[in-house]
Amino acid sequence: MRYLLITFLTTSFLLFSACGPSAAPPPQAPAISPPTVPPAPSPAPAPAPTVVPAPAPTPITPTKQPGVTEARVIRVIDGDTIEVDINGVVYRVRYIGIDTPETVHPTRGEEPFGREASEKNRELVEGKIVRLEKDVSETDKYGRLLRYVYVDDLFVNAELVRLGYAQVATYPPDVKYQDLFLRLQQEAREAGRGLWAVSPAEAPTQPGVMFVGSIKSDKYHYPDCRYAQMIKPENEIWFSSAAEAQAAGYVPCKVCRPPR
Ligand SMILES: [Zn+2]
Repeated sequence: MRYLLITFLTTSFLLFSACGPSAAPPPQAPAISPPTVPPAPSPAPAPAPTVVPAPAPTPITPTKQPGVTEARVIRVIDGDTIEVDINGVVYRVRYIGIDTPETVHPTRGEEPFGREASEKNRELVEGKIVRLEKDVSETDKYGRLLRYVYVDDLFVNAELVRLGYAQVATYPPDVKYQDLFLRLQQEAREAGRGLWAVSPAEAPTQPGVMFVGSIKSDKYHYPDCRYAQMIKPENEIWFSSAAEAQAAGYVPCKVCRPPR
């Protein structure tokens, strides 16, 4: 018995001795830890194309470019509205030239694709330093700053249209990039991206949108369709609704896919 106990103790001792040195942590070189940046509170599971970490709070300096201000995005309200901090003052910013489906509409509730548009916008700008470019108007009737928004080289307003998260909404006099937006929208619609992926019948139509056809053919188009733009002015025929176009014997263009 005593022998067994001694054996046990000896074995234990040997085991401990053997384990001892390796259990101790190896000496470590002092780690150069990067400054801790709080992660942007993004619940978005979608992979972000821009893998820039949330910017460290750096002082916002006015840029030399006239009409352009730097700001930090502190909150994304929806697909086309954000809250920013400009030198310690919080402003609400409405993107110029575009409309995204509403996430909270007073009567219609959530519009198709509203949530996706918000998520995309969050992915693009949340927590980032953006550049805000003014067109003609300073604010809209709700007191929101009307701005074009950039993150580095990315033109956010245009990107949302290009990916089909927003449609073009032109409110004169703020029309500086209207041609670009219309071209990108046409591209998105033809590719069936985002909100244009839904069937043409459900595709959103802006109030007041007109359709155009040629008296030499039987197709009606969105005015920004490339085929519509080839119609000679003297041959243009305008319709205020798809129903009106069809009553006149016109069928929807297969490229720009206006509602039927
Ligand atoms: Zn067309």
